[in-house]
Amino acid sequence: KRVISTQVQDEDIKIEKNLRPQTLDDYIGQQKAKKNLKVYIEAAKQRGESLDHVLFFGPPGLGKTTLAGIIANEMGTHMKITSGPAIGKPGEMAAILSNLQEGDILFVDEIHRLNRQVEEVLYPAMEDYVIDIMIGKGATARSIRLDLPKFTLVGATTRAGLLSAPLRDRFGVIHHLEFYTVDELKTIIIHSSEKLGVEIDEDGAYELARRSRGTPRLANRLLKRVRDFAEVKYDGRITKDVASFALDLLEVDKFGLDQNDRNILMTIIEKFQGGPVGLDTLAASIGEDSGTIEDVYEPYLVQNGFVIRTPKGRMVTDLAYQHFGIEK
Ligand code: ADP
Repeated sequence: KRVISTQVQDEDIKIEKNLRPQTLDDYIGQQKAKKNLKVYIEAAKQRGESLDHVLFFGPPGLGKTTLAGIIANEMGTHMKITSGPAIGKPGEMAAILSNLQEGDILFVDEIHRLNRQVEEVLYPAMEDYVIDIMIGKGATARSIRLDLPKFTLVGATTRAGLLSAPLRDRFGVIHHLEFYTVDELKTIIIHSSEKLGVEIDEDGAYELARRSRGTPRLANRLLKRVRDFAEVKYDGRITKDVASFALDLLEVDKFGLDQNDRNILMTIIEKFQGGPVGLDTLAASIGEDSGTIEDVYEPYLVQNGFVIRTPKGRMVTDLAYQHFGIEK
């Protein structure tokens, strides 16, 4: 499995539970989203109302679930977690909604993957806090309207553009989560080390931070991997040398690129003369799903100037050539 996949892996579950910040003040970075949420939360609390529905979009591992939990915490309510692919039938969505309590947060991860009928249950639920349920069959079938508690839907998706317009329009607050800076990740790594009882120095934390692809989930996972390494091979303390050595072994380079990223870049360089190459053609030639390339690999490569998107397709930049020491 890819060490630097930003998607949740089994090894993350336990560690993430312990490392999740509980309040907005403990949540590092994402200043804009934090500032806005603070205002909305205060206002909702003062009016004694539930918070407007919130949509977070951005690559995996940037803290969408964490923020939803923080909102519940700050509002003094509970969070129920589900995901788009987990709900197959309208009745299942209706059951989840009618079991909520006043003010609860319903977190729906990968909300763009809800099917059409399930999504339609959400429209009146979000807008008027009601659901329409069909009872009976055939000629005697009729629909009854049920009131729901005033809840807040927090949706998460990798790209806002994946949502249908009617669903997107029903969110009062929409936030794009950004990749974290190296300094922010360094702070997260130092906090996590304290919680885990790991000894790490500033340079060690910096080295981990700059190889974590702007992603807290990855920063925490790499911290754990490097800690294991430091305990077995060294005295347990993470310094720059220990971190570099361990990360080199894990084949995560100094830009946080791994074998898959290098494969994408080298394919564009070698097979397509640096591009432009269409996403589907690229996906076919490396045997990867085009959606995964677009949502998981590419944002970081684009953000860091290795790849640019043009109307004709993807192109690598001079930086990518330099990275591999290849003459153009
Ligand atoms: P997403 O839902 O976007 O995939 P998560 O909310 O599950 O991401 O975040 C992954 C992990 O990264 C969390 O368990 C948490 O430990 C850490 N994390 C995310 N954002 C932050 C942050 N702003 N500050 C500190 N830790 C964070």
